[in-house]
Amino acid sequence: MGYFIDTARAMAVTMRNVFRPPTTVQYPKEDRVRPERYRTSFALVHDASGDEACIACLACERICPSRIITVKPAGKRESPVTGKKRNYLEDLTLDLNACIFCELCVQVCPTDALIMLRELAKPALSREGLFLSMERLYANESLAHSWGTGSRLMEMQDPKRGLPALEPGREAPPQGVDPIADGVS
Ligand code: SF4
Ligand code: SF4
Repeated sequence: MGYFIDTARAMAVTMRNVFRPPTTVQYPKEDRVRPERYRTSFALVHDASGDEACIACLACERICPSRIITVKPAGKRESPVTGKKRNYLEDLTLDLNACIFCELCVQVCPTDALIMLRELAKPALSREGLFLSMERLYANESLAHSWGTGSRLMEMQDPKRGLPALEPGREAPPQGVDPIADGVS
């Protein structure tokens, strides 16, 4: 009798779920709304004058708990935009393989040069695919307006930065740029 009741219960559960609508999402054909604090990748950006915003201060490298950011300063030189001497970057790399997405590097950046993105990108197929070279970080700048992170988004819409305000609602990311897909350099 016990077996019969257990079997009937199990069948009832099965029958209840057979007629439920599926909860899976067929990504990338379908997309779903991302939580406000969803993060996937990073970008390096220029400032409002068009000059490189990064001043190679090493703050992001020093604060990163995973020790995955490497900054190589290039020293001081004259800015082609303002004509004033300032520090420039020779290289900055970030290894997403060990990133814990704490956002400390972004929050500590004094010039808003480093930002996080919340684009839903294709997964990388190798460890190398999760390594962000400086070229890849600058290539991701084009995603900043659409997919910059919440806290930084507020600052990026500040008219003092000279960047256009975002349209309400989500925008499709530009075609052909995928921050964490393999083969982007
Ligand atoms: S978000 Fe990633 S790269 Fe930035 S400080 Fe945290 S662990 Fe380091
Ligand atoms: S990204 Fe920001 S914190 Fe990191 S070196 Fe450049 S200016 Fe400094």
